[in-house]
Amino acid sequence: MSVRLAHGIGEPPADQPVAAVVALGANLGSRRETLAAAVERLRHLPLTADVRVSAPIETVAVTLTGEDADAPRYLNAVALLHTRLAPATLLRELHRIEADHGRVRRERWGDRTLDLDLIAYGDARIDEPHLTVPHPRAHEREFVLAPWNEIDPDAEIPGRGRVDALLAALRGGTL
Ligand code: ATP
Ligand code: CA
Ligand code: CA
Repeated sequence: MSVRLAHGIGEPPADQPVAAVVALGANLGSRRETLAAAVERLRHLPLTADVRVSAPIETVAVTLTGEDADAPRYLNAVALLHTRLAPATLLRELHRIEADHGRVRRERWGDRTLDLDLIAYGDARIDEPHLTVPHPRAHEREFVLAPWNEIDPDAEIPGRGRVDALLAALRGGTL
């Protein structure tokens, strides 16, 4: 059965599994349990295997006005998965998981029970109204780069460079 028939959404599956990177974040509710449940959902996605996840890290919330030490802190993690789901289909699945965890979209960068971003999809470069890959802000976010580097020290962001070098630059040095 095709993904299209199974879900009624999306593009046809890729012929070969693609290494995709998903960033997870939560700053409301039972953050640790939410992230664990989200990872379980990733493990059960159709056409998807080999899900690996970083340890969670705790980070200060970033809002529209910058870092906000008074906002609830985030737990962030990064998951690597191998999937034949097309990028738009994968994003739709991520949104479904967010919704099932009570995600409500209010103001941009507001508090949330769960945020799942598609950071990279193989070496694909996608620029569509609802999907930009690689994620356009991933290269400047320590809370994405650090856990990603932990589980894939050779990772690269297409068009941006190696994750370890980006992380070092962000931390004020070079490799
Ligand atoms: P940021 O994108 O800066 O991390 P955010 O995660 O808070 O902010 P959301 O409100 O979760 O932003 O998402 C806004 C829109 O971004 C979504 O409706 C989605 O269609 C779009 N989007 C574009 N590219 C991506 C991507 N690579 N991963 C997730 N969402 C994306
Ligand atoms: Ca995000
Ligand atoms: Ca998001």
